Amino acid sequence: MKSLSTSVSLITLALSSFLSVTAVGQTQVIHAGKLLTVAGSEPLTKQTVVITDGKITAVKAGFIPLGKISQKNNKATLIDLSSSFVMSGLMDMHVHLQGELGPKNDRDNLRLSKSDRLMKSAYFAKKTLMAGFTTVRDLGSSAEQSYALRDGISKGWLQGPRIIAAGTSVAVTGGHGDVDGMSPDLLDMHTAKTVCDGPFDCRRATRRAIKFGADVIKITSTGGVLSDTDTGTGQQMADDELREVVNAAHALGRKVASHAHAAAGINAALRAGVDSIEHGSYANEESIELFKKGGAYLVPTLMAGDTVVALAKNTNFMSAAISAKAIRVGGDMIANFKRSYKSGVKIAYGTDSGVSKHGNNGKEAVLMYEAGMSVQDVLKAATINAADLIGKSKSLGTIEVGKVADIIAMHASPLKDIKELMDVDFVMKSGEVVKSK
Ligand SMILES: [Zn+2]
Repeated sequence: MKSLSTSVSLITLALSSFLSVTAVGQTQVIHAGKLLTVAGSEPLTKQTVVITDGKITAVKAGFIPLGKISQKNNKATLIDLSSSFVMSGLMDMHVHLQGELGPKNDRDNLRLSKSDRLMKSAYFAKKTLMAGFTTVRDLGSSAEQSYALRDGISKGWLQGPRIIAAGTSVAVTGGHGDVDGMSPDLLDMHTAKTVCDGPFDCRRATRRAIKFGADVIKITSTGGVLSDTDTGTGQQMADDELREVVNAAHALGRKVASHAHAAAGINAALRAGVDSIEHGSYANEESIELFKKGGAYLVPTLMAGDTVVALAKNTNFMSAAISAKAIRVGGDMIANFKRSYKSGVKIAYGTDSGVSKHGNNGKEAVLMYEAGMSVQDVLKAATINAADLIGKSKSLGTIEVGKVADIIAMHASPLKDIKELMDVDFVMKSGEVVKSK
């Protein structure tokens, strides 16, 4: 891949990795060959983006020299992306940063300490950021470690994407999101405190998750492919449980993301008022109406389907229960995504990375495009729509004055070849350059 001629002073880079989150007292000037300010619009040619203290303070036509830009403390740095395609940082609405699906999962569960798991998640978080994903939602991870990772990154102790964290899922006993596939003693030991039964208990579980640090509530309204049980992918949380979770979460200012495969579970979650449906594999006509009526997003996670089908066919570590579900659901996801997209359901980008390998998050774009989504709609899903889904449209998702400087670059335009999103060369998060080659 052609390397970028990026001239960022080494001193700036070295300093910025010690400074926290935003590069305070700094002015940075990007010369962008092509600049996509807002996904869905035409990219502009030869633009200058000025960043002060980690925020975008000007976007101007032409390559304006450093000398003509008013600078704080006369310390502006020029970042030369004059032969690159520059756009807003990508956002992945569905990841699990603490693991990666594979044959060693059972062994790791026995051997790794919580601290080991946290270290591993830091490694995966960095990979995700280097792939151009500056914001992610972690929808299901051990709570304490997930919040520690989120907070450590936001304090500037380590590099990773901005994380909207759910902690452990609010799930029903024996349902998807509860523990499975272990000896009875271990099952008891590992049951999360957010497992609940009945509306009032699920209200408790939701409030508990928020008390301990959840930014968003993840629920599992239907069975899931990777639960090691043969209980199917139908509705598992009852209507009254779903309603209580959504009411309790919304009352405390948190959104709700529901994992859902079967139509009955998708529709029950949408009727209860969830803010997004994850996977949505068997969305039917009624689901599409409910999506449109309530304004919820669909986060399709085509990569999850793609990955589990390949693993079920080419490896032998999955149990019979899991591999049967993987082949059925994985195989059906794309056709159903097409129908939802064509019907005008709002789509936000999400990969379910952790099922697939971390750092390959850009591949979801290729799968969405191959399923019939336009490139601009894919880019919207990964920027503007994702920002809207997490309630951060005022600060994230576009390159406009006042926004946080989350900026990425590729050597060629993804509008011409979507695969460019899998090869991001330059990453700036909150004004800090974290990748530049
Ligand atoms: Zn997931």
